This record gives sequence, structure tokens and C-alpha cells, in this order.
Amino acid sequence: VSTTGKPDISREKSAELYEKAKLYFPGGVNSPVRAFKSVYGTPLFIQKGDGSQIWDADGNQFVDYCCSWGPLILGHNNAKVREKVIEVMQNGMSFGAPTALENELAELILKHNKYIEKIRFVSSGTEAVMSAIRLARGYTKRNKILKFEGCYHGHVDALLVKAGSGLVTFGETSSAGIPKAFADETIVVSLNDKEALLKAFEDFKDQIAAVIIEPVPANNGLLLQHKEFLQYLRNVCTQNGTLLIFDEVISGFRVGFEGAAGYYQIKPDIITYGKIIGGGMPVGAYGSSAEVMSNISPEGPVYQAGTLSGNPVAMAAGIAQLTELLRLGFYRDLNNKTEEFTEAVQRFATARNYKFKVFTIGSIFWFAFTDKDIRKAEDIDPASMEKFKKLHRELINRGVYLGPSGYEVGFISAAHTKIDLEKTKRAIFDSLDVVFR
Ligand code: PLP
Repeated sequence: VSTTGKPDISREKSAELYEKAKLYFPGGVNSPVRAFKSVYGTPLFIQKGDGSQIWDADGNQFVDYCCSWGPLILGHNNAKVREKVIEVMQNGMSFGAPTALENELAELILKHNKYIEKIRFVSSGTEAVMSAIRLARGYTKRNKILKFEGCYHGHVDALLVKAGSGLVTFGETSSAGIPKAFADETIVVSLNDKEALLKAFEDFKDQIAAVIIEPVPANNGLLLQHKEFLQYLRNVCTQNGTLLIFDEVISGFRVGFEGAAGYYQIKPDIITYGKIIGGGMPVGAYGSSAEVMSNISPEGPVYQAGTLSGNPVAMAAGIAQLTELLRLGFYRDLNNKTEEFTEAVQRFATARNYKFKVFTIGSIFWFAFTDKDIRKAEDIDPASMEKFKKLHRELINRGVYLGPSGYEVGFISAAHTKIDLEKTKRAIFDSLDVVFR
């Protein structure tokens, strides 16, 4: 039974496309969350995007807060990015040989990031993480990896593991097709839990090659960590000869040009990037000190390669996007805009006594149906996702698009105007009134 405060938008064309897509792709999609399994209705097939707006196949228009899951910090179809891509494409799309564009993007990053000295471009965040782990293992000559419950690092075999029961556990695979032996090399502990971390380092002394963390965990809600915990983690890794990997596929170039490393002023040993770095094209990267990076082939013994790595068209998009981010006041303006928005939403919910919290950092936000201070995956009540499902439907019907899962965060881009945010606030207020009715 519909609880909706507004009639549902037409999804006729999207539904037709989805039926067809199901003939071609498992579940009708090329990445699972797109299938709208945890929200209401047929997945929306998107036809175009411009600035903060997207349009679906039925002609419905939305203010978009998914922004392709983070890469589009300048919004959709940014003219500078588009023009640079078209300019570079005139000369061909791939050579499998070095180009000056790779130097240009690397220089743009390394000149403005004191946390890494050398970088390697790959084609996705998953690839960046997979390579960073191999590098850490090759460098330390150890096998074990420690990850945190609730952090997502792409579909890397060794990291598709979840915690078992107990303070410190070997991972249990969270996907079929991963040998148990792989998961046995991965230790899983809770976020924000010093005791579990220490116990892991005691239990597996001199065996842990790397600890990997999203310093801004943003794939299972937004599980903001205290700086003190991240600093503690840094110290424990140093004391144990373990490399600390910051997975900054979301936080890199998002919470500031230097990402979470710069935000918290903590120097990890390896950083992975993705999303924003490619301006909407498939780019990932990992970087470290010159010394650690010298272990990568062809300089060192850790093999890693890619036919389309450093692809010129993708580099062009990255160059154009990152150039904009370096403009004076870019992050200040974007973050202020986000803060104003999230504070207004929180004020409304608090005034109405709704069990609803907005978590936010930089231009990332997460809506949670809770009254708790959530800092670890286990703090999220799965039952609260029923409320998100309603909220999502109400917002879609009011022209606001959030990523289709209550565990996903939202992103605000430089293209979101005051008017967009005002409209969105009103849509959220009305929707919350329906959800809590
Ligand atoms: N690491 C983090 C923190 C991510 O958020 C993601 C994707 O959402 C990945 C890695 C994997 O990146 P990709 O989807 O580009 O493979």
C-alpha cells in the first residue's frame, strides 16, 4: 500500500528499458546497487545530465545527489571537462604508449599533495586498491591484511570479507567465488575500536603487511572516525612495520584537494584514489613515497600493468576537473554550501522530534534514521532502512534523486545552486513529514 504523499512519477520507459536490460545483464545492470533492490520501484534509466540536474528516459527531471557515486564534483557535463576531452579525442583515443597528459595530471596532483611522491594510474578504484595491497605485501614480505568492518574497497577478493563473531576475526567471504584461503589472509576488526586493533597486532605479530581503511568511511553510511583513532592507527602501524593504506577513492579530492590525509594531517604509507581523479572517466591511482613506489614494475619486483592505464582521454578529464578544484576558495564554498544545507535539514528534523540524523563532512552527507552517534557499521539498525526506502520514494516523486540505498552517502557538487538546495530542503521536509506520519 502506497504511503506516498505524492503520486508516483511515470517510469514507463525506464521499465521497458529495464525489461530489455534483464535479457542482457545479470539483474539487468552492470553494477548491483543500480538495480534499486533496496528502494521502491524500477531503476531509473538516465538519459542526460547537466550541472546539478539529471533527466530519466521518461523525461522526469531530478536534482542529483548521487553524482555518479562521487566523481562529478563539478556536476554533470561540465563545459571545461567536456571541451578538454573533445580536444584530446581529436588526436586519437588510446596508444598504449606514454603521453604528455599523464605527466600533466601527475604533476597537478603531486605538486599539491605532500602525502605522496610518486603515483601510478590505473582504470578503477578496485584496481587501485588491489595494486596497493600487492605493493604492501611485496614491500613488507608479509601476507596478512587488516581491514575494518563497514569499509568498502571495491570488489577485491581479499577485501570482500566481513567480520565473523569475536573481537578479532579472520574474514568470512561476503561473496561466492572467493577461496577461504584468501579470506584467511584478511583480518577484520570494528572501526573506532582500539582494543580490537591492538589485539589483532598481538595475535598476528609481524604478519600484517598493511592496514587498509577508508579514513572517511562512506560506503556503509558515513562512519566518521575521530582524528585521534586515525592517529592511533598510524602509530600502531609504524610501531609494527605495517603499511597504512588510506583508501581515498571517495575522500580524495573531496574533503579537500589533499583528501582525508590533508584533512586530518595524517600521513599514510600508500593512498588510493578513484572517482574525482578521473573527472567522470574511468581512472584510479595509487601513490606513495618514491622509495615504496620503486617496488612497482618495471622499477621493482611488484608487477602491475594496464592496457588502458593513463588513457589520454581519461587523463584529459582528470586534468580539467582537478584544475578547477585548485581554484582559490573552491572547497570553502562547496563545504559552506553543504554545511548550510545539512544544518537546515537537521534543524527541521530536531524541531519535529524526528529520529533522524544528518552526518556530514566536506560535501558528503548521509541521512540516518537514528538518534545515535554512529561510528561503526554495527551501530546501524538495518530496520531503519525501511524508513529510507520511503524517503527515497518521496524524494523521487518531488524531483530529488538520492543514491538508491540507505547505506549510501550523498554528494553535493559545485553545480548545485542555492535554488536547488532550497528546493531540495523543502522536498526533504515534506518527505520526512510523510515518512514519520
Ligand atoms: N574504494 C572505495 C572507498 C570506494 O568507495 C570504491 C567504490 O565505490 C572503491 C574502492 C572501488 O572503486 P571502483 O568502483 O571504481 O572500482
